[in-house]
Amino acid sequence: MMIDGHAHFGSLPHNGKMFGSFEEYKRICDEIGVSKYCMQPIGVSDNFSKKTTPDNNAVVFAHAKDTKIIPIYWFNVFDLPETIDGCYKAIKLHSDIGQVEIDDKKVIDFVNKINLPVFVHTNENKEYSNLDKVIKLAENVEVPVVALHSGSVTKTFFKLDGYKFPDNIYFETSGIQYAFILKKIYQMVGADRIIFGSDYPFGDPRVSLAMIETLDATKKEYANIVGKNIEKILKL
Ligand SMILES: [Zn+2]
Repeated sequence: MMIDGHAHFGSLPHNGKMFGSFEEYKRICDEIGVSKYCMQPIGVSDNFSKKTTPDNNAVVFAHAKDTKIIPIYWFNVFDLPETIDGCYKAIKLHSDIGQVEIDDKKVIDFVNKINLPVFVHTNENKEYSNLDKVIKLAENVEVPVVALHSGSVTKTFFKLDGYKFPDNIYFETSGIQYAFILKKIYQMVGADRIIFGSDYPFGDPRVSLAMIETLDATKKEYANIVGKNIEKILKL
């Protein structure tokens, strides 16, 4: 079974046009055999400029109608809830809202309080969201920590050798600039720590699967990357 580990629910509005839709996403997933989707809301520009929280409820409502959707809660350190709904299987941080460091005490405390796996947006070019910060978060929590986009940019490839990743860090495949970054991660940590994700509508599940193909992994490894690993982490 293929599970998309990272997708956004809905469309991205830009200059009066909408990019992507859940209907389009579902059609693509049906065509290629993706049967479940870990989804969080879409962060629109206002969320970033005004430090507000994307519409988590939209995902909960959609999940009530379509159980293929696995809800992921987008938490914002400027607007932390006391509790979150029991339907969420993980939480997600995007450090570009307020340029919050991934290992900020508010983040560590919230992750430990909610006690669910945490997904973090990463970009090796940004001091507050590079893989070093992911390591520091992972060292301070018990739950799995999924590095969305695996550092994303070319620089990641050259910095990877300097990192020692704790066992609770996983690497997600969307938004990776070049295949050699994912190939190096595969060499360093192996297939059991790699998670297929599309980042739809920014990315597309077909692009991520093509990226995973470049690993020339065994059948068993491929099955773990595209579904079994996330199934285990989220206890689905
Ligand atoms: Zn995303």
